[in-house]
Amino acid sequence: MLHKPLYNITPFTALDYPDHLATIFWFAKCNMRCAYCYNKDIVFGEGQIKQEEALVFLESRVGLLEAVVLSGGEATLYGDLIEFCRKIKQLKFKIKLDTNGINFDKVYTLVENDLVDYIALDYKAPKEKYFEITKDKHFDSFSKTLNFLIQKQFPFEVRTTVHSDLLRVEEINRIIKDLLKKGYKGTYYLQPFVFTEHTIGRVKEEKKPFDISRLSKELEVVWRT
Ligand code: SF4
Repeated sequence: MLHKPLYNITPFTALDYPDHLATIFWFAKCNMRCAYCYNKDIVFGEGQIKQEEALVFLESRVGLLEAVVLSGGEATLYGDLIEFCRKIKQLKFKIKLDTNGINFDKVYTLVENDLVDYIALDYKAPKEKYFEITKDKHFDSFSKTLNFLIQKQFPFEVRTTVHSDLLRVEEINRIIKDLLKKGYKGTYYLQPFVFTEHTIGRVKEEKKPFDISRLSKELEVVWRT
């Protein structure tokens, strides 16, 4: 178990948890290696902050903030996450989890024990492109998490980061088709790739813009900038 699970804390955000003032806990380490990931320091770096230190910080924000966003990295890798969430809940904060969804058991346990209030789930790529984008082979685990959240009618959103040379409109439309088939009724968020020099896959700038007009209209899609 990581002695210092958090890489960093963003003390305040009004943007990350819908309609809530929140703090962001950035967990070190990730079980993916997405080509476009710009959080290399978090993915490969060591944690700097202990759970206890994060809780002391939270205690100082009681009455000032409403929620905690668990981001990273991949928060579900932290072995003591369930207990950590229990302690956050004792302080009466809501919890949002940002996750790639391949750690089904952890997401399941958090949801079934009312230890999370909202989830942002990354749908990285269609099955046939999943490994190329993430260097991970567990699309079926992700799919199980997606099915579970839909069937549970849990409040969550699905989102995809779009680099137009890595994911074409046809592939996003295949994701939309899969979401419809599974019964997803929420909004599907697309986030444009923002170029930096230091991505994990040393991804270049997009050669041509992503053509939003060719996206399927069967699901509500929001281009999040
Ligand atoms: S973008 Fe991919 S590699 Fe980077 S933190 Fe998220 S899941 Fe991990």
